[in-house]
Amino acid sequence: MNLILLGAPGAGKGTQAERLSKELQIPTISTGNILRAAIKNGTPTGLKAKSFMDAGKLVPDEVIIGIITERLAEEDCKNGYILDGVPRTIAQAEALEQAGIQFDAVVSIEISDEAIMQRMSGRRVCEDCGASYHLVAVPPKQEGVCDNCGGKLVQRKDDAPETVKARLEVYHNETEPLKDFYESRGVLKPVENASSVEATTRAILRVLGR
Ligand code: AMP
Repeated sequence: MNLILLGAPGAGKGTQAERLSKELQIPTISTGNILRAAIKNGTPTGLKAKSFMDAGKLVPDEVIIGIITERLAEEDCKNGYILDGVPRTIAQAEALEQAGIQFDAVVSIEISDEAIMQRMSGRRVCEDCGASYHLVAVPPKQEGVCDNCGGKLVQRKDDAPETVKARLEVYHNETEPLKDFYESRGVLKPVENASSVEATTRAILRVLGR
């Protein structure tokens, strides 16, 4: 199964992708995590991406298209995958289509901007494996430590309130048009953000017929 998770920054794509990945036994591919790892390792891609990310802007399409086509060609993707945070523009969606990739479902997590602004201040991510947590909604077992790999949990630089506002604007202008794009291909599945992480996962699995 090839899936896309769409939604505003902080909608819960990363958290849901990790849970769906375990349930469906397919890998999650997050361009945000790949880019953060590239920055941490000081690679040329990381150097190119950093200023865009820090400002809450999108990294240029050609950089993203290069990263994602390379990643999807790897062995673990042959039975399907979940894309988290990509595509984010019509150009990226068209590039995936031109590469012959089809999607079984594009799940759009619906949540208000107000709820996002409230939520982002509590988000923490593992600086080693990229797993996401929330101080209240999804706390780690041990404070400041990743349940998966023992890595350190940190606040993302781009989760500062002003940057979140910029990212929401980018989302509405550049990414939301993807809903019409995938609706016209008959694969869009909107899911309302529910009161808990578990309830949202159940709602997603339901629209996937699981
Ligand atoms: P995320 O972790 O998905 O919220 O992504 C964090 C940041 O990485 C975004 O604000 C962008 O600067 C960059 N980024 C991640 N994925 C993409 C993408 N598909 N297209 C453009 N920029 C991206």
